Order: sequence, then C-alpha cells, then structure tokens
Amino acid sequence: MDGWSWALVCAGLAAAVPPLGAAAGAPASVPPRFRLSLTASMALPVEVRAAAEHEIRRIWRREGITVDIGSTAAFGDAAVDMRVLIVSAAAAPATRDGHQWPVAELLGDAAGQPVALASVAAARRVLDAARLADAPTTLVHRRLGVVLGLAVAHEIGHHLLNTTGHARHGLMRARIDAREFADLREGGFDLDDDAAQWARARLTRPPADALRLARFVYRP
Ligand SMILES: [Zn+2]
Repeated sequence: MDGWSWALVCAGLAAAVPPLGAAAGAPASVPPRFRLSLTASMALPVEVRAAAEHEIRRIWRREGITVDIGSTAAFGDAAVDMRVLIVSAAAAPATRDGHQWPVAELLGDAAGQPVALASVAAARRVLDAARLADAPTTLVHRRLGVVLGLAVAHEIGHHLLNTTGHARHGLMRARIDAREFADLREGGFDLDDDAAQWARARLTRPPADALRLARFVYRP
C-alpha cells in the first residue's frame, strides 16, 4: 500500500431536477428503479462494461434500488434518470501533485439533466498506481470495470441524494486508495449508514417520477 489515493469525482449539479414527491410517505411496495442510460465507445472491451454494470447494480441493490441499465432510445428520453458516458480520455486533469485523478465527473447537459463521464484512462492509471496493471487481460478488464462501476455508482449517489458532499467512509468518499479502488472483493463501498437510513426513509416512487430525493447534507 503506497498511501496514494485518488479522487473519485466531482462537479455537483444544482438542484435542477425536482426531488422525489412523497418524501414522508411509506416505503414503496415496489422497489424503486433508477434508469441509467449508458453509452461506451465501441472500443471498450465487453468484459469491462459488463463488470462496470455488475458493480453499479450490486452497490445500489443493497440500498434497495434496482438500477436498470440500457440506452436512451430504449428508455425514452424523459424516462432516463441519469446518462453515463464511458470515455477513453481523462475526465479531468490530474491534480497538481499528479497523485489524484478523478475517474468520473457529474455534469449537466444543456437541459440541466445529469450526465456522468467516466474515464477509462483514469481507471487505467488507478491500476498502474496500484501495480495491478501487469496481469492477465481478463483480470485487468475486470478490475477496470470495477473501478469504472464504483465511480459511476458514486455519481449516482450524488444525484440521488441531491448532494455535492462526501462521506468519511464507504461509497461516497471523495478519495480512495488505488489498491482498494481496484479490489475485486465486495465490501467497503456501501453507502454510509447516515445517508442509507435517510434515503430508505424517503424511497417512495410514483411510477412516472424521476428518482431523486430531497437534499442530503453530509456533516463536515
Ligand atoms: Zn464525489
């Protein structure tokens, strides 16, 4: 463990999307679904994408949210909660000391709808720094997918919790050590208890509404 760490993200969105309506209601009998439109370069190996999608679904399933991943065309524009673009280039420049790279970034499109960019180049740098890049291709692809999936799951957290804040541990940390980031074992990236309890109490969803909660505030 070399002690370096990597920023996951983050450009926060203004509250352009209205929060979920019945915030104080009873939990929904049908699990809420978050519709993610995911686009990746044709050059992205299918194993990387599959591992990323698995990671995104796994993390949010624990919080009682089913993440449906598809294309905007399949969902229809109005039904998409967030769009994700997996790009080859770095999402944002490295920090001055060169030891941190954002793997993903949350932006808004012209209509104020959330768009997350996740960078394959930044994910590769995480593996390089963790000295995990020199491995069989299948394993490298899986690790790249895990890093990208964690970064996207983190961005979903920002949008869903309607916050630009970060937790001290778990999924919503701002910085994660490279080796932990690329670790294939499950655990360590759950939503922190405060945010999870807060979200569960508010997860009600009329069928046609966007899945976004009132603003959650992390304690400084
Ligand atoms: Zn963040």
